[in-house]
Amino acid sequence: MNQHAIKILVLDDESFMLKLLGHMLANLGYTSVATCDNGRAALELVDSPNDSPNLILLDLNMPEMDGIEFVRHLVERSYTGSLLLISGEDERMLAAADKLVQAHKITVLGHVAKPVAPQALAALLAKWAPPGSARVRPAKAEYGAEALRAAIANGELVNYYQPKVAVSDGRVVGVETLVRWRHPTDGMVYPDQFIGVAEENGLIDDLTRVVLHDALAQARAWRDAGLTLRVAVNLSMDNLKVLSFADFVAEQAVAAGVAPADMVLEVTESRLMADLRAPLEILTRLRLKRFRLSIDDFGTGNSSLSQLRDIPFDELKIDQGFVHQAHADETRHAIVAASLSLARQLGMEVVAEGVEDQDDWDFLRRTQCDLAQGYFIGRPMPAAELPGWIETWQARLSELIPAPA
Ligand code: C2E
Ligand code: MG
Ligand code: MG
Repeated sequence: MNQHAIKILVLDDESFMLKLLGHMLANLGYTSVATCDNGRAALELVDSPNDSPNLILLDLNMPEMDGIEFVRHLVERSYTGSLLLISGEDERMLAAADKLVQAHKITVLGHVAKPVAPQALAALLAKWAPPGSARVRPAKAEYGAEALRAAIANGELVNYYQPKVAVSDGRVVGVETLVRWRHPTDGMVYPDQFIGVAEENGLIDDLTRVVLHDALAQARAWRDAGLTLRVAVNLSMDNLKVLSFADFVAEQAVAAGVAPADMVLEVTESRLMADLRAPLEILTRLRLKRFRLSIDDFGTGNSSLSQLRDIPFDELKIDQGFVHQAHADETRHAIVAASLSLARQLGMEVVAEGVEDQDDWDFLRRTQCDLAQGYFIGRPMPAAELPGWIETWQARLSELIPAPA
């Protein structure tokens, strides 16, 4: 990267810090560095047509305008450069500030705690890229109820399957069914773009029926081919409003010749249910029939604990937002540990979602977590790719699960 291309502004109320950071930046080869000891002066620089910085090293604790307030002013100005946060506050404060800036859609290279280590600073600076060069996600299309209704009727929804493996020995225990819409003109459309539409327009039952039917047929086909997998299907709370849903699921399983114990029903509370009687009745009856119930995205809703209290779940899925990078983050680490302990005491199996890299996997190997799921293990894939994936996975296992010495 060309260090000369970046115009850096260091904003910190302590003149000692300004000098120190100025030296570090010079040593790292950055030639265009301005400093300010208060927010107002910094904003003037941001407003200047020629000297506006591409990157601001921002101290959070400043007596007049603090760093968070400064960010608000940047947002008002639609600042397109990047930020790097620097503070003596603890990690959780820095992480919170980081989240806040990201929520404002400003690029944050990361945060460093004071005293600043030059290597840490250099590593973050290396992440800088000119505005507009970042991979921009295509704008999400809005899909209407009619388009979705037609898609369901025309068989445009297809199931993808993501593996769930045992953390202890890597055994492939099951898969989670994740629906996709193969849109004739827009390509692959992901569920966050149409599940809400389905829920709001009374289409979620039709959608779930298709997904469940195909997943059961697939489970049966795998078993006939000698591959017994527990197949999970996601349910919406809106599926649990009509009491006959429990019988419908049971009938489908019988028709497909799949044992309820080989089915997992993953439930998320995407929106608050005013009346819990129907969901409670349906889920309890499904459990009586030996379907496995899973509480999905555990820890993200505001009523996860009361759901745990009220519904006899067999499985708890720790949300990916807690799992990924838990090894390097005390807060996430504590949340994962507490969720595990809670699940243990309630006799539930635990699945960690969002295992994205080797660090996440190694972290889970040090816990008592039962199952893992995530891009590091395997991405959601069409059913036909699963046997090939299993082969690759088995080849990776000797590396991922070293034999005890
Ligand atoms: P979920 O049930 O929590 O599923 C996990 C989501 O995380 C999936 O997104 C999956 O592709 C993604 N994922 C898997 N591994 C990783 C990882 O390592 N890192 C990250 N960042 N993400 C990972 P997807 O397929 O886009 O589905 C999103 C949500 O849509 C699902 O979340 C589920 O709540 C919902 N959904 C999917 N299929 C259905 C369905 O048939 N019915 C209903 N009601 N909801 C569904
Ligand atoms: Mg799920
Ligand atoms: Mg989840």
